[in-house]
Amino acid sequence: MMRTLAAPLAVLVRGDGCWVWDDQGNRYLDFLAGIAVNSLGHAHPAMVAAVSGQVATLAHVSNYFATPPEIELAERLKHITGAGDRGRVFFCNSGAEANEAAFKLARRNRANSHGDGSRTRILALRNSFHGRTMGSMALTGKPQMREPFEPMPGGVEHIDSTIEALEKELDETVAALFVEPVKGEAGVVDLPYGYLERARDLCTRHGVLLIIDEVQTGIGRTGAWFAYQHHGILPDAVAIAKGLGGGVPIGALVTFGTASDLFTRGQHGSTFGGNPLVTATANTVLDVIEGDDLIANAAARGQQLREIVARLDSPLITEVRGRGLLLGIGLAEPVALALSAAALEAGLIVNAANESSIRLAPPLIVGDAELEEFERRFGRALAAL
Ligand SMILES: *Cc1c(COP(=O)(O)O)cnc(C)c1O
Repeated sequence: MMRTLAAPLAVLVRGDGCWVWDDQGNRYLDFLAGIAVNSLGHAHPAMVAAVSGQVATLAHVSNYFATPPEIELAERLKHITGAGDRGRVFFCNSGAEANEAAFKLARRNRANSHGDGSRTRILALRNSFHGRTMGSMALTGKPQMREPFEPMPGGVEHIDSTIEALEKELDETVAALFVEPVKGEAGVVDLPYGYLERARDLCTRHGVLLIIDEVQTGIGRTGAWFAYQHHGILPDAVAIAKGLGGGVPIGALVTFGTASDLFTRGQHGSTFGGNPLVTATANTVLDVIEGDDLIANAAARGQQLREIVARLDSPLITEVRGRGLLLGIGLAEPVALALSAAALEAGLIVNAANESSIRLAPPLIVGDAELEEFERRFGRALAAL
């Protein structure tokens, strides 16, 4: 494999629920869930049935055709995002591609009230993560990721995640504002209080597209279908991926209102996007989330998980950030890598998002038994440090 990643932590061969096994027979409690992807955990019977049933029916067609699972998923995404009848859905295969589509959408928002087409700026947040393709990387607020690949696609400026910065920068020269509602890759970092509400106001006033990247936070993870729903606002577009397919590669960009009219025929596409295999699987993920009340579970288990971390009462832990089942544990010292290694040793998968943050993103199906195991294993890892 290409040397773009660190050496693998283990070779995993099998999974069941919140557990995975490596090729040495070791069992691990999975509190990373493929980075917020395995919404239903591993080998969920409904997913097994959806994938095998759809493969046996119709796995792929070209974008010259529609399929029932694709139409159904588009309708459901319009509904759960709040986009409603004026919504449109573009299907792709990853989070980066959903943001790439959003970047192109932003370029289509040219006209300002003077009608001179000089709306050229795109704003994104420092420390945000939007993906690894050229466009999504240009949006990503981490200079060390962008610099080896410069020049970037033009027009993107990174601003601080403060209301003051919004008030200073948003005007009719701006085409779009990209926001990650909880910065997952940065170590699960929340926005300031009232940020999204103020962003919505200012974007509406200046004709700026508010584009929310819910690739990590979306599909129930924070205790709502989408994190922006905790704030009572709607975006102009939302990027979705990770948890939507429960493990099959799927991404989507949903547009709202007049933003749905910006792309015209032939302006974007994807060969695999929306194919019946992945959309049928995503429909099943949504079915199980709805049927088993997993959004409420994410909210309740997230609260329990915070209580467990507090009860561990480690001097190393300074705070818990995030919402629902996307939590970041702030550490007093830059030992996140050593702590995640100790956790692995104790049979627990957590993620060192950076040197002083541990990220937790267990499957949405997590229950009492797994939380108890987490407490025991994470406690052992903290003691081993
Ligand atoms: C993971 C992630 C992406 C990129 O998704 P890929 O599927 O890896 O391309 C984009 N935005 C956010 C917020 C993410 O967490």
